[in-house]
Amino acid sequence: MSNLVRILLVSFCFLSVQCSAERRQNPAKEELEDDTTVVANFHEAQIPLGVRSLMMAYPDFVKGYENDTLLLVGGKGMPYDDGREKSFEEKLDDADPEDMFSFTYDRTGRQPGYLQDAGRSRCETLFKMMYGSTEKDVRQNLTQVEWFGEKVLFTRVNGAADSLCAVAKELTNHSELLPYLKSSGSFLWRKVRGANRQSAHSYGIAIDVGVSKSDYWLWKNPGKKETDKIVYSNRMPSQLVAIFERHGFIWGGRWYHYDTMHFEFRPEILNSFDL
Ligand SMILES: [Zn+2]
Repeated sequence: MSNLVRILLVSFCFLSVQCSAERRQNPAKEELEDDTTVVANFHEAQIPLGVRSLMMAYPDFVKGYENDTLLLVGGKGMPYDDGREKSFEEKLDDADPEDMFSFTYDRTGRQPGYLQDAGRSRCETLFKMMYGSTEKDVRQNLTQVEWFGEKVLFTRVNGAADSLCAVAKELTNHSELLPYLKSSGSFLWRKVRGANRQSAHSYGIAIDVGVSKSDYWLWKNPGKKETDKIVYSNRMPSQLVAIFERHGFIWGGRWYHYDTMHFEFRPEILNSFDL
């Protein structure tokens, strides 16, 4: 294994903090090192960045890459890139894995660029395979996470609930952020407003917090369509965002179509800018 890969794996595992929630076996370093398919594929120079990001984020499911195909657990395969040119809306409504990496997740603190919605694009086939394809299936993977006097439902799959626990643990040292932490929802099996695709909340990988101090693109820009120019607004502290991001969550405030209460477990998006 190259030193770079070893360093990345060690950093990845360091972020998996133990917590009190019912703990699912996390993708452990030993497991990755023993998995010759994964390790061998890291050495392939031709593997797209998005594939490598997926393999690091979801080692229980994405095992390798061959002939433009993601090799999945159980011997199944899935095309990485369906080869179709897509409009902005199609990248959200009909995403293949490659489309998920076609936006910029800008962590510099600048306002998001026009139509840059990294993370709003989700390959539904992949997400349903990992987290469950029906409400009943998803529910079987949920656990309760202690969240500042509340209990919120989150999926154990991919270590998401453990990561939310790690966020909560770190936030206990920041009493100044307490006013932003009241949750207005985590798991809810539903479609995205005005669209036919499943919301991230359906998979138990998203939490909304601090709604009274939040901004949403349609509240500030009523009547605007997805491709219209809109005005940005945010009142969430950057320190709160940084803590979530350290544990694999992306923030809806970094989307052109901002949703600043929304945090979503998407380590592959963060990996794709760190690798
Ligand atoms: Zn949300």
